[in-house]
Amino acid sequence: MSTKGPDRLLLLTSQDRLAQVDFHASLTINRCHFDRLCQIWARELQTDEFPFRSAIVSPLVARNGILERLFEHRQQCRIIFDSGGFHVQQGRLELSSATRQLREVYKEHDWADRFALPDTPITSRDCPETVKRKLRSNRRQYQVFASNFLEPIRRKLLPVVHGTTSEQIRSSARAARQVASESLGFGGFSTSGPNGGVNSFSTDNLRLLVQFAVYCKKEKLNAHVFGIGGPSAIVVLHYVGIDSFDSAGWIRTAAYGNVYLPYLGAVNITGATESRRFVGKREFAEMRSASQHSCPFCRDHKALVKYWPYRALHNYITVASSIHELQSTPLNQAVENMRRFNPRFANYLSLALCERNRLLEAEANPEIEAADEMLADLADDFQAPKSL
Ligand SMILES: [Zn+2]
Repeated sequence: MSTKGPDRLLLLTSQDRLAQVDFHASLTINRCHFDRLCQIWARELQTDEFPFRSAIVSPLVARNGILERLFEHRQQCRIIFDSGGFHVQQGRLELSSATRQLREVYKEHDWADRFALPDTPITSRDCPETVKRKLRSNRRQYQVFASNFLEPIRRKLLPVVHGTTSEQIRSSARAARQVASESLGFGGFSTSGPNGGVNSFSTDNLRLLVQFAVYCKKEKLNAHVFGIGGPSAIVVLHYVGIDSFDSAGWIRTAAYGNVYLPYLGAVNITGATESRRFVGKREFAEMRSASQHSCPFCRDHKALVKYWPYRALHNYITVASSIHELQSTPLNQAVENMRRFNPRFANYLSLALCERNRLLEAEANPEIEAADEMLADLADDFQAPKSL
């Protein structure tokens, strides 16, 4: 390996000790689906342990009975209440109505571990003026909403940082800090797909994500990333120093007949969709073996093809075991695996590590940091008049 350029930076980053990332599986699902997943988990693993160590649920959208189920398991499962920002973005929920309802729900169900603040997410279709208007609205929201809660709950509030530029991310993070919570969430992934509802990486939002992670580390805040977490993305999240993330991908993609493989991503095994590459039984077995994955839910290929809960639980285990294994995987090995299984994400990983080291080096150099701070202050003055 060369000791110049990006690879030198990879080596620098490998000296950091990174803790295990916490995967919050989205459980905003029907109660009968939830019960079915738990039953199959218990039967296949011969255990009465609750399957999910961490979860996220949208209390305003969750079907009848899910909150009660999670309440029963709150000792075994760390739970984030999501604000339903995705539904606000989709126009299914008004922000003012969501805010009013969330205030009541959070007070009634104060047993969750973290509570996302209501917000209006930015989409890739928003023009610069709309982005600024949304950011102003979110900033106001942080202060007004948080003022309804006393100290113990305020610490558990999870404000969401948005922005399409470095200055906006910094400014949004500073405003979110005023909530006085112990964590910040990143909601800055560009959206694509039907109705702008699918989060994905791009070189631009990756830079913003790294900036967010470095900011949280500096301020000793827990860094959470909303709405992303496939097998390739989690490698990037791990090495940029994110503490937790949430994703509905494990169950959503299973419904389309897709299954995860470590580092690689998702492949289709049912022939029901053309959005993922179809692989037959033999090829899937070879891919599983190459990625050294094995779990009770993918041993029987017939069951995996026939039953979505098997695909969902296989996907869940794939993510959960991958983040566990990343802790003991040397960075060079992780980069090599990414290059082998998913070259596009290998490039994202290199880019993220370079950006992370650039920011850490700038932070260690007070002159550069002072210049950055000055620029951020100018941006704050421009975007957020004191009357706010
Ligand atoms: Zn499996």
